[in-house]
Amino acid sequence: MEEAEREPLELSSEEGDVEVEREHDAPAELDAETRARRDAALRHIRKLGDPVLRATALPVDRFDERLRQEIERMGELMHDALGVGLAATQVGVLHRVLVYRAYPEDPLTALVNPLLLWSSEEQQSAEEGCLSLPGVHVEVERAARVRVQGQDGNGDALELEAEGLVARIIQHEIDHLDGVLILDRIPRQARKEAMRALREAQAQPSSA
Ligand code: ZN
Repeated sequence: MEEAEREPLELSSEEGDVEVEREHDAPAELDAETRARRDAALRHIRKLGDPVLRATALPVDRFDERLRQEIERMGELMHDALGVGLAATQVGVLHRVLVYRAYPEDPLTALVNPLLLWSSEEQQSAEEGCLSLPGVHVEVERAARVRVQGQDGNGDALELEAEGLVARIIQHEIDHLDGVLILDRIPRQARKEAMRALREAQAQPSSA
């Protein structure tokens, strides 16, 4: 998921007001170096139309140095792209691996073989963007809280509960590992508008 504007990311207590993985709307506000780094990172991230985004990633069974390097690279790309989450499929790797950092002060979290153990019945709607869908921001309804299990880069078991933005990011990235995009989670009319925004963003890649 993408988020360039850090401030709006603050979790609001008002329901339905959580912004997630927001595409950057005002590139002029980024300094030249940050923007150049972001553009370079985005070139490594697969965009809609690439079949790998529709593929189902495979479980990881080898926890070696290569996996840890893969995770590290994903974390760097996500950071440089000003994202808050990234799935391995988005960099063309069919591994069930995701990384996220919801807030700048948080450590990078990597989840290997993530599995949703539980989702709250309570849903929340909030705007999401996606590093693979430049220019698209859509309201997506998701479970407000989730419990997830997985492994870290060393193969050690992890289990965590999340709510709000973190829960949203985890659900968004697990979707990627199953070939599901935010376009699949919105009504048809919203999808049409999103596709138009995507075409417009692609027509002017320098500002994307
Ligand atoms: Zn995404």
